[in-house]
Amino acid sequence: MDVDKLNEYWKGVDAALKVSVSQPIYMTYLKNLRLVSLEQSGNGLVAEIGCNSVWVRSFVEGRMWGQIGQELEKMVGNKCEFKFVIESRRVEEWKSVSEAPLFAETKRSGDDFRKARMLEHYTLDNFAVSGSNQMAYAAAQAVAKRLGNAYNPLFIYGGVGVGKTHLMQSVGHEALKSGEDRVLFCPGEEFTNDLIEAIKNKSTEKVRAKYRKLKLLMIDDVQFIAGKMTVQEEFFHTFNSLLTGGSQIIMTSDRPPAEINKLDDRLKSRFGAGLIVDIGPADFELRTAILLIKAKQRGFSLPMAWAQLVATKYEGARELEGFLTKLISEKDLAKIELTVEDVKRLLKNGEKETFGARILSPQEVMNTVADYYHVPLAQIKGERRFKHIVWPRQVLMYLLHKDGGLPLEEVGRLIGGRDHTTVIHANGRVGVEINTNMNIAAEVENLRKKLGLQINH
Ligand code: ADP
Ligand code: MG
Repeated sequence: MDVDKLNEYWKGVDAALKVSVSQPIYMTYLKNLRLVSLEQSGNGLVAEIGCNSVWVRSFVEGRMWGQIGQELEKMVGNKCEFKFVIESRRVEEWKSVSEAPLFAETKRSGDDFRKARMLEHYTLDNFAVSGSNQMAYAAAQAVAKRLGNAYNPLFIYGGVGVGKTHLMQSVGHEALKSGEDRVLFCPGEEFTNDLIEAIKNKSTEKVRAKYRKLKLLMIDDVQFIAGKMTVQEEFFHTFNSLLTGGSQIIMTSDRPPAEINKLDDRLKSRFGAGLIVDIGPADFELRTAILLIKAKQRGFSLPMAWAQLVATKYEGARELEGFLTKLISEKDLAKIELTVEDVKRLLKNGEKETFGARILSPQEVMNTVADYYHVPLAQIKGERRFKHIVWPRQVLMYLLHKDGGLPLEEVGRLIGGRDHTTVIHANGRVGVEINTNMNIAAEVENLRKKLGLQINH
């Protein structure tokens, strides 16, 4: 069959697909499909549908096959059989269209990730996808493929622990791997402090230069900039200058821009000018998948049945990770293989422990500790080694890891980008103090009470 005819058929299918799925899904997976051939075979027709990558194929086969089939049969007016082909020629074509660079993957060291303030294991591959985050995932993929050209800015919002930071950093990861160095991850709070300092020291030029030279700026928990007029003003200009220069901006928040209190109206509208996607709470399958991914990363072989058991008990990714941490340390302590009974016992204990307790965000823990010791959070996160700063810093690391269940690396990142060995050291020191000094034990208990954590011995 000639190409024009094939294209005409596909145009009909394409039009139907375009209106039936969300824009990110269409842009990421469906836009580049085409009908390669349509041949008579025996009594029916065989259609070959071409796409440009394995991940497009697996998505389309998994979720869109039925619909594509129906639409095509409608166009052709006959029953068809389908085949998928990955066309390398199309890959090239598509790459040039999308302006994606053709260079090979760049090898990156731990230092590269630290410089960009990112965690190395926050990748798209390590991100489990399900209904609640499918759209955000597709959007992140599209943005990673075409920095500055797909959705700009990309705004991701959702509750605590749904994977916003992870997904955002995955885009940064892809950018670094493609050879782009001008990548920076920045918590909203830090961004704010940076600007406040600069305004105070009259060094705004320097700070401007730092942000404006970026190709990809990721601002995490951007709601923190709200309410501070001068900071918002500065950000507004940085934001515009990056977008005009073709740079990509990604932001996360706990809510959509329109609902962020005290956020400048100009920023509200700018934030929504690209794409706003939300991530909902993880369903059971996703929770199980997250556990399996995390266990694998830590070299812990977690049987599926155990993962499912745990996933029925905990709702949030952070709690799941916390439990996994507990399970692994239990195994290290026991020095024998754990059984499913151990898992059940630990889950039961966990119930007691978290009974009545609130789910805390790391930010709440940080603020509470800073308040408690009357030391500004910026100093706790800073480099100074005065005794009155070092101790709160260590207690904070201890609480985030032991009570919050955050991995060592994540704690290090949150507390001013420290190495995980520093966190291990802090945990050791605080642990020893608690066990040998009654006053300190009481102090940490007090803090736990303030945080609303149940105390259990
Ligand atoms: P948020 O920024 O939304 O509060 P994070 O990105 O910090 O959440 O995620 C919390 C933890 O849960 C991280 O360790 C992250 O890797 C993990 N996580 C969340 N969602 C997923 C997912 N879909 N796949 C794999 N890990 C996930
Ligand atoms: Mg986050």
